[in-house]
Amino acid sequence: MRNVNNIVGRFAPSPTGPLHFGSLVAALASFLDTRANQGTWLLRIEDLDPPRESESAPAKIMKQLHSFGMDWDAPPMFQSTRLDAYSEALARLSEAGHTFLCTCTRKATRGVYPGTCRDKQHTDQASAIRVLTTATSIHFDDQILGPRAYNMEQEIGDFIIKRKDGLFAYQLAVVVDDHFQQVNRIVRGSDLLDSTPRQIFLNRCLNYPSPSFAHFPVVLGDDGQKLSKQAHAAPVTSEDSATVLATALKALGQRPVDRNPIGKMLDQAIRQWALDQIPRQLTIPNRDL
Ligand SMILES: [Zn+2]
Repeated sequence: MRNVNNIVGRFAPSPTGPLHFGSLVAALASFLDTRANQGTWLLRIEDLDPPRESESAPAKIMKQLHSFGMDWDAPPMFQSTRLDAYSEALARLSEAGHTFLCTCTRKATRGVYPGTCRDKQHTDQASAIRVLTTATSIHFDDQILGPRAYNMEQEIGDFIIKRKDGLFAYQLAVVVDDHFQQVNRIVRGSDLLDSTPRQIFLNRCLNYPSPSFAHFPVVLGDDGQKLSKQAHAAPVTSEDSATVLATALKALGQRPVDRNPIGKMLDQAIRQWALDQIPRQLTIPNRDL
C-alpha cells in the first residue's frame, strides 16, 4: 500500500506467550489506525528479557496476527539483534553527561527515585545506569486522552536505562528502535502512559524527534483487573477469529462490521476507523472473551 502520509505505526509485543485479548486489542488499534492513514505497519518483537520469554511465542504471535488478517510491511525486527545500537545510544548519553551509575536496591527506590547516587562516584560495573532527569516539563498532546504534562524530575525521576544484570531497559530500547524504524505514530494501551514522558525525554537527550501518541484505556475484565498474561488471561485462539474481532472492535468503540471472511471484515473496520470513538475506559465482561 502506498504510504501517502508517511505514517509509520508499530506493534511491539514482548514474547512472553501468545497474545491475550488485551494485546490483540493493542495490535488491532495500531493496525487499524495505521491502515486508515495509508501508513506502514511494523512488527517488533521485544525480546530483551530472556528469562521471562518463551522461545515459541514469536511464531505464535505472528500466527495469531495472521489469523486476524493483520499483516506487517517489513520483516519483524527482534530487539535481541539490536544490542550494538543500544550500546551506542547509551555511550552517546553518557558522553553527554545524561547518565550516572546507581547501586540502590529496587526496594530502596520504590516510587520516584530520590537521586541518591547522582553525586556518588560509583565504578562498580554491576551498577544500574540511570538517566539524569532535570526539572524540565514534558508536554504531549495525546490524541485520545488530550494534553498531558509531567515534571520530569519531580513526577518521573531518574529512571533506569541499563539494569544491574546487564540487560538494556525497555525505555532505551524502544526509543532507539522507534527512531531507527522511523516510527512516528504510537497507538498503545494507557498502561504504557507513564513510559511516554520518559521516552520523549530520551528522544530529546538523543536529538531524536518524538512520535505522536494515542493511548487507549486498557481492557479490563469484569473484575476491574487489567487482563494480562501474568494473570493468565485466556489466550486468543484462531478459532472463531471473526467473533473475537467483533468483540475487540466493540471494545474500541468502533461501529460493528458485517460478518464476512476475516480480511473483508478488517477492510471494513479500516474504512470505519474513528479514533474519537474510543471510550475513555474499556471494560469487557470476561464472558465475552
Ligand atoms: Zn542509586
